[in-house]
Amino acid sequence: MNYPYQKNVVIIGGGPAGLGAALMLAQRGWTEITVLEKRPSADYYEPDKSFSYQIDGRGQKLTDLLGLTPKLADVSVPSTDFYFTLIQKDGKRQTTKLPIADSQRQTAYWLPRATFVELFYQEIAQHWRDSIRILFQTTCIEIKQHQENLTIIAQSRDKQQLSFTPTLVVGSDGLNSIVRQTLHQWEQEKSHAFAMQQFPSPSTGLKYKVLTLPPQFPLSDKEGDLAQSTMAYAIRSNFKGRNQAISLGLLPLKNPAQPRTANIITYPEHKIWQLETKEEVEQFLKQAFPQLPLEKMISPEEIARFASSGGGKFPIPQYCSGLYRIWGQPEANQGTGVILLGDAAHCFPPDIGQGVNSALEDVYLLQETLAQTQDHLSEALPRYEKLRQPDIKALIRLVQISYPWQYNQDPLRKRLWSLNFFLRLLLSRGLPFLFNPHSFLLIQNHQLSYSEILAKSNRTTQVLGILGGLIVLILISSLRIEN
Ligand SMILES: Cc1cc2nc3c(=O)[nH]c(=O)nc-3n(C[C@H](O)[C@H](O)[C@H](O)COP(=O)(O)OP(=O)(O)OC[C@H]3O[C@@H](n4cnc5c(N)ncnc54)[C@H](O)[C@@H]3O)c2cc1C
Repeated sequence: MNYPYQKNVVIIGGGPAGLGAALMLAQRGWTEITVLEKRPSADYYEPDKSFSYQIDGRGQKLTDLLGLTPKLADVSVPSTDFYFTLIQKDGKRQTTKLPIADSQRQTAYWLPRATFVELFYQEIAQHWRDSIRILFQTTCIEIKQHQENLTIIAQSRDKQQLSFTPTLVVGSDGLNSIVRQTLHQWEQEKSHAFAMQQFPSPSTGLKYKVLTLPPQFPLSDKEGDLAQSTMAYAIRSNFKGRNQAISLGLLPLKNPAQPRTANIITYPEHKIWQLETKEEVEQFLKQAFPQLPLEKMISPEEIARFASSGGGKFPIPQYCSGLYRIWGQPEANQGTGVILLGDAAHCFPPDIGQGVNSALEDVYLLQETLAQTQDHLSEALPRYEKLRQPDIKALIRLVQISYPWQYNQDPLRKRLWSLNFFLRLLLSRGLPFLFNPHSFLLIQNHQLSYSEILAKSNRTTQVLGILGGLIVLILISSLRIEN
């Protein structure tokens, strides 16, 4: 059944959360949905944002709801077929299948960000044109309060000003969300609900840049020795030392015609970030990767682009506790509800691959609360906040503790992490009633909420602490007896 108030929505940001929310609302019968997106198109290729996503069971709750999981599977590499080749500095190669620690785990799907966003966009273009319109190259520049309504001011590609007075505003405009910042400005005198609370992590501040390579680039000068699109690669450099050694990381791609992207992730003080000209970059790469036929792999234009690109930095884990606000009575068409979804409300480095999955889960849970409340925003939005807040807080903590050392920032800390990981794995297999696996593994179980995973992880830490304390006490007392 459709209610008369289920219309007039403005979604700011057409990334995974925004387009997912548009489809979810349209499927629930909402109409007159406008998505404002500042980029020129859904599949717009930005070299330094061309990372791959792994859509796991959590993200698939939404793609299942939207009936899109089979299409997702068609354009992705499944986690069950994840093969990985390590290429050493001397050219030696070793291919392994990514071990699957939990055989019950739902298959996850690897695909580039642009392909994923395009999947949602195509669904809108093919089936929901009557209820959803997307305005590309249109940027929200201001949000104004008018008694019981909010007015959204946007600027279109031809510099025209557009103005909307919607029933529902979805803030899915990423880390620097104008929606969240505006709510924060309005409320900062009386509350910090929309201020981002930040939490340190060893992976925060790491710099990254992406090199774009041809689809099946040559791996050596031998004829026919080409990279396979569905294979992941880690290519180690000839250099040693914290500020010289680098690695090219390539994730698998289903489409053999699509260019490959090689991620370079390293400390801000690394030599590669000091290189300013294309000649310097070219020389560095040649010395770093003598095992690769670089001239055949990377075009001079790409080297020049890489040299001039500013790259990106991993953000600090952060979230805001406020997820919604309501003015007036949106159900009576006299008011506006605002909700924050995805990175606009919680953002962190990509260590545990939950950025996109948590954003999609936000949309899924919002749909559940809308379903429970006949889409009454005044009831649904507070209910959503209450349901989601504890999980967001737990998620940010999980990002801090789960695997921030994976980028080789500190070999000793990485080894200690591995020790902790395998200790928990062994103990949980032997004594499952007392110990849980490491949180990095638990996150892969989409049936557990982030709060449940954190509680299990903390419980195991406590038991390990008590056991460790007991062992120390026993050692001390046995030493005393000997003396
Ligand atoms: C280097 C890197 C690697 C990552 N790797 C992974 C990974 O492996 N796995 C994973 O799960 N996550 C990863 N993430 C995180 C993931 O990309 C985000 O969590 C995810 O994109 C969140 O989706 P979103 O829709 O909330 O926000 P976004 O994807 O940021 O989308 C926001 C959209 O809003 C638009 N926008 C912003 N402001 C305005 C405005 N004023 N007007 C109009 N439009 C606007 C933007 O153009 C953008 O399209 C990675 C992030 C980075 C930086």
